[in-house]
Amino acid sequence: MRWQGGRESENVEDRRGGGGLGGGFGGPGGGFRIGRGGLGVGGAILLLVVSMVLGVDPTVLLNGGDPTAESPTAQNQPAGRSQVGDAGTAGGAGNDDLKRFVSVVLADTEDTWQALFKRMGRQYQDPTLVLFTGTVASGCGRAQAAMGPFYCPMDRKLYIDLGFYRELRDRFQAPGDFAQAYVIAHEVGHHVQNLLGISDQVQAAQQRAHSPAEANALSVRLELQADCLAGVWGNHASRDRQRLEPGDVEEALTAASAIGDDRLQRQARGTVTPDSFTHGSSAQRVRWFRTGMESGRIEACDTFSSDRL
Ligand SMILES: [Zn+2]
Repeated sequence: MRWQGGRESENVEDRRGGGGLGGGFGGPGGGFRIGRGGLGVGGAILLLVVSMVLGVDPTVLLNGGDPTAESPTAQNQPAGRSQVGDAGTAGGAGNDDLKRFVSVVLADTEDTWQALFKRMGRQYQDPTLVLFTGTVASGCGRAQAAMGPFYCPMDRKLYIDLGFYRELRDRFQAPGDFAQAYVIAHEVGHHVQNLLGISDQVQAAQQRAHSPAEANALSVRLELQADCLAGVWGNHASRDRQRLEPGDVEEALTAASAIGDDRLQRQARGTVTPDSFTHGSSAQRVRWFRTGMESGRIEACDTFSSDRL
């Protein structure tokens, strides 16, 4: 991805190194888990759950045990994909590189969505991206890095622990800078859904849902739409600003596929139970990212009225 020298967003809040709580924090509260019991709980928690990242179901991650123990080793990694921040240790030069990269990608999503909202006669409000390490206090409650990146609709902020990128490369076998950008674009997709009132509608529908499975099916459509919106951004980053290089789209598709719920669940438990999917299968995530990427149109991302996911 051609990102060097691009405009850097001013909406990055660096809370790295300051987020620790000492040893007192034993794990996320029950509300963060995507459990059956959690679906009836109040708005903030539910919205956090439905907008929670990128396939990284916290229960899967938390129950998954030592990531190195069950993940395939790095031997299958596509060779030669450049990853931003490779050289970085905490606070090191690589991390500053990574912060610049994140700021450029965020700025690119701002340019894209400002233009697309304007076309709809609306005004886009930029979200804030919070960098943290370990744990972080968000408008949706306290969160742990192990839960993966997430968007909080209450404070309109995206939260990401940059350590997730290492995991994306090593555990999920999805290296590359455009895969890294896709993670941000997906969370920005949730912000777009929030601004358009889609998240609220889904939340209301979930509260009327007759079963956890029904509520969960709505979460899947919301997640797949965020993937599609990430693709819409990719289309404009490519077409309007020539940011993409050969192989970039494949990087994002690999990431979308690697963090599909079926793949994650198989890794964690050896079986797949579709009822508890919250982000869509690998094939679905790839399909919707591609739909957005190829069309560049928000209208193409209507996962809610589509018969086929
Ligand atoms: Zn998501």
